[in-house]
Amino acid sequence: MGDIVGNLKTIRGRIEAAALRAGRDPASVTLVAVSKTHPAGRVREAIGAGQAVFGENRIQEALPKIEALAGLNARWHLIGHLQGNKARQAAGRFELIHSVDSPELIRELDKRAAAAGVKQKILLQINVAGEASKFGAAPDEITSLLDALSRAPNLIPEGLMTIPPLTDDPEASRPHFKRLRELLNGVRAKQPSFGSQLSMGMSDDYEVAIEEGATLVRVGTAIFGER
Ligand SMILES: *Cc1c(COP(=O)(O)O)cnc(C)c1O
Repeated sequence: MGDIVGNLKTIRGRIEAAALRAGRDPASVTLVAVSKTHPAGRVREAIGAGQAVFGENRIQEALPKIEALAGLNARWHLIGHLQGNKARQAAGRFELIHSVDSPELIRELDKRAAAAGVKQKILLQINVAGEASKFGAAPDEITSLLDALSRAPNLIPEGLMTIPPLTDDPEASRPHFKRLRELLNGVRAKQPSFGSQLSMGMSDDYEVAIEEGATLVRVGTAIFGER
């Protein structure tokens, strides 16, 4: 698993095959290489192999890496839980924040984006399986999130994100991915300006996610090896 270049090549091939199986354009799927816990040097290797988008979980870990690699062709996404008191550090530092899951966080991020003079792209993280231990809003909280977003002119809602329950069987994730797609369809029927991105699928189930409509897959271990 040490061969980042080879792993990326394999994964890109699988992404393409999964997209074609589903009758989708492979270019409609973006690979987010999840580099959390891996040092900047490993990220540089991936950039050298043509990987452009990277996902990090924690602001404290991400910001030094972003700085270390400034000037290279890398774009950064925040995929991990964001606490309100870290919103100031996050606003404007990430191309996309995948993990917005409460009206309070929407209000705080909007304020911080305004102060930074940026329009911040975000996804709403939805806990489709209703797991008590997980971050993410419940599906029936989406209305209140949309309400908060309607008063957050500095945030651009690009779509939805989910993390299904941990499992060894990729097929077990399929109903959760399908559900997220249906939720997005519902949101866009009511609010056509809401974006159409679906962030779903990780190392073990990204192909299933693509078959179910993922436009952003977040893959760490299969690229960089075990953490
Ligand atoms: C760590 C992480 C991933 C990547 O998981 P892998 O199993 O290593 O591919 C994806 N999404 C989120 C939110 C993560 O925290």
